[in-house]
Amino acid sequence: MSEKTSHQTQLRLLSPWRRRCQWATTLLLLLTPWVQIAGNSLLRVDIPELSIYFFGQTLRIEELYLVLIFSLAMTLGFLLTTMLLGRVWCGWFCPQTTLTDLAEWFATRLGLHGKKGQGEKGFGKKLALHSFYLALAFLVSSNLLWYFIKPFDFFAKLAALEFHYATWICLLTVAMIIYLDLALIRRLMCSEFCPYGRFQTVLADKSTLALHLPSAELARCIKCNSCVRVCPMQIDIRDGYQVECINCGRCLDACRRVMNKRNQPGLISYTFGTEGKGAKALLNLRTLLLSMVTLALVAILFFAAHQRPEASLKISVSHMASSRALKDGKRATFFNAWVNNRSNSPATYDIKARQAESGTALSLKGRTSQLKMQAGKNLRVDFVLVTAVPKTRLDVEFILLDQNGKEMAVSQAFIEE
Ligand code: SF4
Ligand code: SF4
Repeated sequence: MSEKTSHQTQLRLLSPWRRRCQWATTLLLLLTPWVQIAGNSLLRVDIPELSIYFFGQTLRIEELYLVLIFSLAMTLGFLLTTMLLGRVWCGWFCPQTTLTDLAEWFATRLGLHGKKGQGEKGFGKKLALHSFYLALAFLVSSNLLWYFIKPFDFFAKLAALEFHYATWICLLTVAMIIYLDLALIRRLMCSEFCPYGRFQTVLADKSTLALHLPSAELARCIKCNSCVRVCPMQIDIRDGYQVECINCGRCLDACRRVMNKRNQPGLISYTFGTEGKGAKALLNLRTLLLSMVTLALVAILFFAAHQRPEASLKISVSHMASSRALKDGKRATFFNAWVNNRSNSPATYDIKARQAESGTALSLKGRTSQLKMQAGKNLRVDFVLVTAVPKTRLDVEFILLDQNGKEMAVSQAFIEE
């Protein structure tokens, strides 16, 4: 074996790292719905229960301000990442790119990629290719639904054909869109349709990470066109920065390979901006301001999540039967209560009532004691408050107590004469 020269031994390619990042992201998206904390999903929107399971926390619909803060922080974080790293997400992490790579890999294995007019002989292969697209489409569509229906429940309902009609519509519509994407659109999605690409043109500035071929290096270019041939977006990086570039680094690898054989370093590199400032280009007002706002939102989110109580109690007078006079001259008022155990462990609660002003205990009839609840679950309780007929108005406090008698939540209501 011939001895390698210094540049040949230093040949470092980015493609293995890019593939690892793509697969890690795809696996993360596929596996996240299967992970559970205390019997609840790591991340799932439960529409019937109007709840979001979020990394061990259960957020009820009335706490959606937390979801809004989280969404805002994520959006700003995404914008900041785009401002700093350009379309690195597209080239290194986006599942659309991974799916397209997979589709192209399979087509190449079948000898179909880039070839037209396979005729009758290619029919079997085309059938296999489109079956592969369909399988991928249904996997992606199912994966999306796992963020709404627990995966085990999903498969049980699928096997029994017991989905709600809206679930069938979602499953089939998303699968059809993904299939059409794989069969007809693929890379065009990144250059023509994806709104993120348009955003990027607005966000990119002189400090954004980009693939760059400095004009000083152009003299070394041997015009082999390897960088153009490998480019999935069919652009020529030698023409300078182009919005279609997804920062995948394939051209960089191709050039390194070619120049390595000539014992020279590659011509193309990742740089922050194109003015040769390096990482110092990141020190600008726009980047610093957006970083500070994003960090502030993350801090607010953590503070708000930390401060939220472990249980909640919502009370309202029953619409079915609001109140009734009793034989002994007292008044029975019917209430509905919603109890939510927001903690990560099962809990048992009691509901008590007292006069708001004096704190005198009031009598409750119905199931208001020993309410056993799993972590993150909601429970509706119907009960009756028995009081003397108030002269004008009686303000009542309903208290949710844990097993140790600790007040977990208080809800207020009033009854009138
Ligand atoms: S120019 Fe290079 S980094 Fe940009 S999309 Fe083409 S191969 Fe990828
Ligand atoms: S791969 Fe490198 S040497 Fe070949 S055309 Fe592209 S920039 Fe020039």
